[in-house]
Amino acid sequence: MKAVYNFVCKVKPWWFFNKEDLSPKRCPDCLSKSFYSVAKDVSDYLLLEAEYRCNCCDSVVQYWSYGNFDPAYLPPKGREEHRQRQNEMITFGEVPHD
Ligand SMILES: [Zn+2]
Repeated sequence: MKAVYNFVCKVKPWWFFNKEDLSPKRCPDCLSKSFYSVAKDVSDYLLLEAEYRCNCCDSVVQYWSYGNFDPAYLPPKGREEHRQRQNEMITFGEVPHD
């Protein structure tokens, strides 16, 4: 199934990940839409880091830490678009100095 992933990810990275928060949508290995999370770091009952795994094939599909999903798990095209979106947000958020 990796061949499918490598092919589809080049054109449709958002088929596998949600554009808004980078959360997993489909497993890149078996296309399952069912995931479970494993707590990796918990401090004072507060979840800091969690690994997301596929319910069907147990592949690691995403990593969540301190409120954000890791862009490193995205395919190259998705990473590039995510970076652009972040740059745009930073640009729009800037207060012009006068
Ligand atoms: Zn899977």
